[in-house]
Amino acid sequence: MVKNITSITLFGGVDEIGGNKLLLKDRDTKVFFDFGMSFGMKKRYYAPPFLSPKSEKSLQELGILPKLQGIYRFDSGPPEVDAVFVSHGHMDHSAYLSFVNRQIPVYCGETTKIILQALSEMRRPDLEFDVQDINFRTFRTGDKKTIGCLEIEPIHVDHSVPGAYGFIIHTSQGAVVYTGDFRVHGSKPQMTQDLVEAAKKEKPVAVVTEATNMIGASVSSENEVEDKLASITEQSQGILLTEFAYADVDRLNSFYRVAKKSGRCLVVSLKQAYLLNALRGDKGLKLPDLNDDSILVFRKSKKRYDRWENSILQQYSAKVADVFEVSKRQCKAVFALSFYDLEELVNIKPAPGSCYVLSSSEPFNEEMEIDFEKLTNWLTHYGLPQYHVHVSGHVMPLQLRSVLKEINAQRVFPIHTENTELFVKFMRDMPSRIVAPEKQKEYQL
Ligand SMILES: [Zn+2]
Ligand SMILES: [Zn+2]
Repeated sequence: MVKNITSITLFGGVDEIGGNKLLLKDRDTKVFFDFGMSFGMKKRYYAPPFLSPKSEKSLQELGILPKLQGIYRFDSGPPEVDAVFVSHGHMDHSAYLSFVNRQIPVYCGETTKIILQALSEMRRPDLEFDVQDINFRTFRTGDKKTIGCLEIEPIHVDHSVPGAYGFIIHTSQGAVVYTGDFRVHGSKPQMTQDLVEAAKKEKPVAVVTEATNMIGASVSSENEVEDKLASITEQSQGILLTEFAYADVDRLNSFYRVAKKSGRCLVVSLKQAYLLNALRGDKGLKLPDLNDDSILVFRKSKKRYDRWENSILQQYSAKVADVFEVSKRQCKAVFALSFYDLEELVNIKPAPGSCYVLSSSEPFNEEMEIDFEKLTNWLTHYGLPQYHVHVSGHVMPLQLRSVLKEINAQRVFPIHTENTELFVKFMRDMPSRIVAPEKQKEYQL
């Protein structure tokens, strides 16, 4: 008797934002979709840098890294998982590739591969994020990859990092859709629509969807964000300081255009410059050129620079500005200053009429966490008012409802949300069965 041949098990992303790890089994084929770090779980036990996990053993003990056989590089046995597919380059979807056995192929978009490799080069060797020697295989939207009994179709979506994908997975029991992270109010809504169109044609047996924004949703768009940034920039008489996720290329483009239009320079960090330089070869992306007159690369004040930093400092030596240079030109600058670099303000000495624009999400963006109390103390010290101009990388509730209605799958599994119960009630009149998933429970399809 053949039964239980196809199943979904969620090892992360259940009742939490991120940490996605979805295992799809079909007969003897096993494929993971995303292998992310759970910020929430980690925060319960750790306070970096002084209280940080020392080994995978601690992470497994605390349930931050699932106890699984046949996937990890520290396993003694052979790999039992056939492949890992990564939806996009945010850490909550990709960081724990670090632990994956290097014999297991990791499939992702070309852009995601570039981002992950660049991020890995920029960090010191790190237990929780290292993609060295990973057997990357890249795909493009609309490709079909056959892994054992599964045929997997990645389709691009719009999100706050370039190179984000959802997947249509053809199983023996019908199609399963995994959305990854997505939105419809970004700069390329058509990409998300492409996934929705393709998904609904398949009459899927299940959709595993993100449902991040059930609380505090807002109606806005990347275009609206750009208009607001332009208005603030025009009014500002001093330096315009800002913080945004450095892999958020849409936002970077908005700041670049706004700076250029107002006759200012966009001062980017070495990290942003390194990533921009790495993504230069990606033909699908529209990015500012580091050689452009409206861009400067900020060399932060320190004694020694890492290899990757030196590579940018040398390649773009004519574009490099130190803190004194930025201070001199401050009334003509939009300065992307990371939370960790706030100390640079001591030498910048922001002029009257300067301001700060927070252009990333609360309570965290997908790359770092901002301590708002400390940020506010710095800004207060320098008399800098704080604007918040942002739009989420995630779909809004009513839009999600209409997307799911259109796809019309038999079952819907909400993940990547802290509001599962709310979501289930919100969707209760849908023809699809809404499942409040349990972590590590195997759901037969
Ligand atoms: Zn995410
Ligand atoms: Zn994301």
